[in-house]
Amino acid sequence: MRRKLVVGNWKMHRTREANARLIEGILKGRPFAGDVVVCAPFPFLGDLAAMLKGQDVALGAQDCSAHEQGAHTGEVSASMLAAFGCRYVIVGHSERRADHHESDKIVADKAKAALAEGVTPIVCVGETLAQREAGQTEAVVTRQLSTVTHTLAQHISKIVIAHEPVWAIGTGKTATPEQAQAVHALLRARLAAVTPHASELRLLYGGSVKADNARSLFSQPDIDGGLIGGASLKASEFVAICKAGA
Ligand code: PEP
Repeated sequence: MRRKLVVGNWKMHRTREANARLIEGILKGRPFAGDVVVCAPFPFLGDLAAMLKGQDVALGAQDCSAHEQGAHTGEVSASMLAAFGCRYVIVGHSERRADHHESDKIVADKAKAALAEGVTPIVCVGETLAQREAGQTEAVVTRQLSTVTHTLAQHISKIVIAHEPVWAIGTGKTATPEQAQAVHALLRARLAAVTPHASELRLLYGGSVKADNARSLFSQPDIDGGLIGGASLKASEFVAICKAGA
C-alpha cells in the first residue's frame, strides 16, 4: 500500500517574515493521513529546518546541483541540502528545464547526486500542450523517464516521480483524472519493465491542483498524491489538499 504524498512547491515566492505564519497554518491542519513536504527557496531552508524540527512535515528544496562539489558558482549541492535537513528535492521541474535548458541527462544526474546524499529526488516529467496535441505525450514522458531509469539503474525504486503536464502548471487548466491516470499508468508500466518495485513507487500529479479537484485526482489508482504550486502558498488550501489524500 503506497502512502499518499503531497509536496508544496513554493517556487520563488514568499518572504522570510511570512513563512512562519504559513508553516504554523500547515502544522495546525494536522493530522494528515499521508506524507507532507514543503519545498522552499534555498535562503529560507535554515529558518524552515528550525521550524519543522521534530514535526511530521518534511523539508525539501526545489533543485540541486548534479555535481558533488567544486567550482560551480551559484549552485547548491545535495550534501548542503542534507546538512539543512532537506529530505526531498525537486529535480527537472519544467520551469528549470525551460529557463535553464536542463536536459534529461542533467536531470537524471541531479537525481543521482541527491540519492547519493540520502535526499529523495522528486523527478518531474511532463508534456507541453503542443506535444499533447501532436499525440506525443507518451513518447515525451517515456523519453524523460528512461534517461532517469538508465542513470539510476536499481536505485530507481528510491525516487518519487511527478507527472506535470506543462500546459496545466499555473494555468488553472487541470488534467482530468482520467487523462492524468492514463499517463500515470503508462509511467508505472514503464517502471515495471525495469524494476520489481514499480508498484511501490509514488507517482504524483502536478498542475493546477486545488482543494476542489484534489480528491478526484488522488483517488485514481496510480496517482499517489500531488506536487502543488500556487495552492501551496495558502495554508487552508494546502491543508485541504493534504487531507484529500486520506
Ligand atoms: C508546480 O509548480 O509544480 C505546479 C504544479 O504549479 P501549480 O500547482 O501552480 O500549477
